Amino acid sequence: GPSGCAPLPVLGRDVTVPLVTGGEVTYAALDYAASAPVLQRVWDDVAAYAPYYGSVHRGAGYLSQLSTELFENARRTVAEFLDCRDGDQVVFTRSTTDSLNLLAAALPDDCQVFVFETEHHAALLPWGSPHAARRGRSGARVTFLDAPDSPEQAVRTLEHALAARDPHDPALVCVTGASNVTGELWPVRELAAAAHAHGARIVLDAAQLTPHHAVSVRHLDVDWVAFSGHKLYAPFGAGVLAGRADWLREAEPYLAGGGASRKVARREDGGVDVQWHDSAARHEAGSPNVIGAHAVASACKALAEAGFGTLAAHEEQLIRTVRDGLADVSEVRFLSLFGDDAPRVGVLSFVVDGWNSSHFAAALSAEYGIGVRDGLFCAHPLLRALLGGDPQNQGECGAPEAAPGETSLNAVRVSFGAGTPDEHVERFVRAVR
Ligand code: PMP
Repeated sequence: GPSGCAPLPVLGRDVTVPLVTGGEVTYAALDYAASAPVLQRVWDDVAAYAPYYGSVHRGAGYLSQLSTELFENARRTVAEFLDCRDGDQVVFTRSTTDSLNLLAAALPDDCQVFVFETEHHAALLPWGSPHAARRGRSGARVTFLDAPDSPEQAVRTLEHALAARDPHDPALVCVTGASNVTGELWPVRELAAAAHAHGARIVLDAAQLTPHHAVSVRHLDVDWVAFSGHKLYAPFGAGVLAGRADWLREAEPYLAGGGASRKVARREDGGVDVQWHDSAARHEAGSPNVIGAHAVASACKALAEAGFGTLAAHEEQLIRTVRDGLADVSEVRFLSLFGDDAPRVGVLSFVVDGWNSSHFAAALSAEYGIGVRDGLFCAHPLLRALLGGDPQNQGECGAPEAAPGETSLNAVRVSFGAGTPDEHVERFVRAVR
């Protein structure tokens, strides 16, 4: 492929889009943090499997056996990719959102959950959810922690909150590995150590981390990890929850149905006796998404083989292109909690003085063929902490437009990764200037 993407070519490099100013241009996809393009290799792997498509765990036929093997191999590949411990389970879900909701539904009684207000809504909202309540619980007690201004403060804030809890109750900390807004890396290992020192468990929202860094469950010492295939260069529809088996094994199945049940018998009193599987299948009722799991595994293999070193160096260089290229544009303000130079993945958000971020993003698309994200990035409390005031989701919620000439209380996000040509980022810098 073009510059910077030799080991990991992606689809969609030749897509052209019309410009309002006339003519057309190749599309610059700079919204990897929402969904990354699909790796050519993942697409090829899916296409190679397609003729052999069969049901999983449901038949003696050759194709069914093949699909079952592929599905279970995918589980092993993901476990290797995450460097899981012996006995850890890998559950295939639909997405990170689904994975964290699954874990929320599997919390033990009286569990207390600790979560920074800076989290993506997928990590912020499931814990006291109606879903958990439906399972006969009131939902966990949730403690929201204030946005920290350094990684060290994040650890201190967590330690302080955990020290004040009732040590007899089970507790879970949920933390992101890399912010979907600022791209900043969080001190996951230190937060995990703090959680464990206080008898709590920890789940890592790795939706933005797995596409950029090797994640080792063992080294980080986290209890669970959640991520989405569509941010990891695989197509939509499959995600992962991996980690400790005990809470998952002891919980009611996330969905009730075939595949999750080992034995079902009617009782004389009209009820039904069910024995559920103890394995990951317990939470995978219904016909499994074998293509999705295969695609996720293929992406894991491709990234592991290419190594994250080259990818990280490429992203570093693109971050520098943006920062250096806009350093003298005083109207552009980048958003960060931990400081402009904090280590981050290839995700940058900013506001522009005198501009409504939604209009700004629309202009990048219409005039330059550049696709970025604008809005509040499903992290409203974080945007409130970063921008002050009450953020407005112009694009998404029909909130009123900012008055002309004012900076709107939402932001623009540019993000990149494998296969991003330098030209796309250079065009972005030119367009913003
Ligand atoms: N957590 C983070 C940090 C994210 O960036 C996202 C997606 N924007 C999610 C969770 C949710 O992922 P999904 O939409 O695939 O469920």
